[in-house]
Amino acid sequence: MTRLAQTVGLTDVQREIVSTVRDFVDREIIPNAQELEHSDTYPQQIVDAMREMGLFGLMIDEEYGGLGESLLTYALCVEELARGWMSVSGVINTHFIVAYMIRQHGTDEQKQRFLPRMATGEIRGAFSMSEPELGSDVAAIRTRGVRRPEGGYAITGQKMWLTNGGSSSLIAALVKTDEGADKPHRNLTAFLIEKPPGFGEVAAGLTIPGKLDKLGYKGIDTTELIFDGYVASDDDVLGNAPGRGFAQMMDGVEVGRVNVSARACGVALRAFELAVRYAQQRSTFGKPIADHQAIAFQLAEMATKVEAAHLMMVNAARLKDSGERNDVAAGMAKYLASEYCIEVTQQSFRIHGGYGYSKEYEIERLMRDAPFLLIGEGTSEIQKTIISKNLLHEYRL
Ligand SMILES: Cc1cc2nc3c(=O)[nH]c(=O)nc-3n(C[C@H](O)[C@H](O)[C@H](O)COP(=O)(O)OP(=O)(O)OC[C@H]3O[C@@H](n4cnc5c(N)ncnc54)[C@H](O)[C@@H]3O)c2cc1C
Repeated sequence: MTRLAQTVGLTDVQREIVSTVRDFVDREIIPNAQELEHSDTYPQQIVDAMREMGLFGLMIDEEYGGLGESLLTYALCVEELARGWMSVSGVINTHFIVAYMIRQHGTDEQKQRFLPRMATGEIRGAFSMSEPELGSDVAAIRTRGVRRPEGGYAITGQKMWLTNGGSSSLIAALVKTDEGADKPHRNLTAFLIEKPPGFGEVAAGLTIPGKLDKLGYKGIDTTELIFDGYVASDDDVLGNAPGRGFAQMMDGVEVGRVNVSARACGVALRAFELAVRYAQQRSTFGKPIADHQAIAFQLAEMATKVEAAHLMMVNAARLKDSGERNDVAAGMAKYLASEYCIEVTQQSFRIHGGYGYSKEYEIERLMRDAPFLLIGEGTSEIQKTIISKNLLHEYRL
């Protein structure tokens, strides 16, 4: 069942990596996802196998021990992983953003310190901008880093919604510092904070309280983070560039948007696969429901949406790989793929009739996972704001 979501123009290496991940998903993830999800169990065995496959270093340069692959290769792997279980793609997502930010903005010392251990998955990254009072309005961040006379910063404040907050050992956190700038976002600094994995006060002044209970996206830990006078050194400032954190994190979020659209493509593709199979197995009024035009047309609509989302995601990834700005393309891909994912999972759910509501069928999980894609790396409203602002600028009269 590979007619949909094909990508033309891949190299042999890209094809091999993606097909290896696809086989792994079919063999190791799909058969176990429902049980792990319902028991909210961290997929340790799957994560260990992903480490062995080198997936944590997929986009990290070869000189630091990674595979040095492109954003496109990475996104196609994420699509495959999310097709199996969205939570598994979440395990590598924040890691990939943090590694990307260090590659783009880190000092040589920071690259040497973190990237080789990130490439093997020994260090795992989390990404923290959101706070209890803000998510979209990043410039309003309240967590404060105050310069200490003896050097470094004392950080105090509360962060919210850290994907991999407990399991990670390196957090890229955006914090307000006093740079004397009149624009709020110029007073934001990104810190690279190393900590042991786990919950509770894992370092002096740094507490990860526990896992947040969520509608879906289970198995993977999503947490708060409390700083209470945590001391970060000057060397922990990303790129040794106080006040540049907003731009650095937004660069990370931009590639993150391609990643979220890839996830939406994977979840939607799986919803289609389940629907097209079920529609041929289930009969009503003397024939398979796929032979009722109302159902066949839904399958046609779903497949078209899966294909359109995949093409936009691939386009956004290729644009970034070519060195061009891709904020509009990434925003469009993320917006379209996540909205279509909601529609396609809904359609698949309807095709499953009453069984779609049963926890024994995969579609109920996809229905609960899909809404997160409307939110992560910026809501649909925020994507539309980015797209329209840019286009109004370019098409200015
Ligand atoms: C499971 C999960 C994992 C997450 N992981 C992370 C993570 O790893 N790191 C991290 O930093 N964050 C993470 N987040 C947080 C996520 O990025 C935010 O939830 C998201 O950015 C939205 O912010 P908010 O929840 O504060 O909503 P708000 O910003 O309060 O928005 C509320 C509503 O208002 C709309 N809105 C806001 N501003 C505007 C505007 N200007 N115009 C029109 N509409 C607007 C929004 O679209 C939304 O519908 C995660 C969230 C979830 C649920």
